[in-house]
Amino acid sequence: MAITHIKQLCGHLTEHNLLGPGPERARWEAWLRSVVCNACNHEQARRDAATMATLNDLPELTGEARRVDWAVCIRAGKLADFEALTADYLRTAQQAVAAGKATEEIIAKGLETARAAAAKALQQTDAEWWVARDGWTAREILKEMVGR
Ligand SMILES: [Zn+2]
Repeated sequence: MAITHIKQLCGHLTEHNLLGPGPERARWEAWLRSVVCNACNHEQARRDAATMATLNDLPELTGEARRVDWAVCIRAGKLADFEALTADYLRTAQQAVAAGKATEEIIAKGLETARAAAAKALQQTDAEWWVARDGWTAREILKEMVGR
């Protein structure tokens, strides 16, 4: 055991148990000095998620404060996933149209369905709803919303 106190990029002194041979420990220590501590990292993620919620005009979440903080981060991640999924869909759809396998109308309808499902999901205000779906893919959440 090699308990070490390391001053991280954010200036916080954090305690670490560095294991392994000397060069490996030195690499770990150098890396820890080059990054912000976990607490600052979480705080940054929380601020980014809150900014994303404001920019996208998302509703306040309800529930126990710590669960709300967590759920806001989950929701921000899912919002990014919904956008990535939509971009993927559009790429695939354009290829299908180009290949004569789909029509613009069918693509537009699919896109409208996905956007409506995402909008419905993003209106969920119960923190526990988001926490329960932390491990879900964007596709799984949108499918659930379409089924409602
Ligand atoms: Zn810190």
